[in-house]
Amino acid sequence: MAQPASAIKKNDNVVVIGGRDAGKRGRVLRVIPDKGRLIVEGVNFIKRHTKANPQKNIKGGIVEREAALHASNVQLVCPECGAQTRVGRKRLEDGRRVRYCVKCKGVVDK
Ligand SMILES: [Zn+2]
Repeated sequence: MAQPASAIKKNDNVVVIGGRDAGKRGRVLRVIPDKGRLIVEGVNFIKRHTKANPQKNIKGGIVEREAALHASNVQLVCPECGAQTRVGRKRLEDGRRVRYCVKCKGVVDK
């Protein structure tokens, strides 16, 4: 079953598991929970044609930037064991709810 998009958070390191950029790794720059999508640094570049706007000092031309990926196309890279993994959730003794790596059981959220 696909994990919910909320399993991945901003600044997580992820690996792409589907699509054109499968195998690439990067840091999550932004999560778009409503759409279940996220933007990963250096992944899924698209070319945008922009119009010049001298008032805003924007040059016209082609700009490459990251486009959002569907959250089901990425998996977390565990900061503890380095494996690509799914995350579980648990409550710590101090009451905090954290994500943990299903492979090494290490806590992902510090
Ligand atoms: Zn792990």
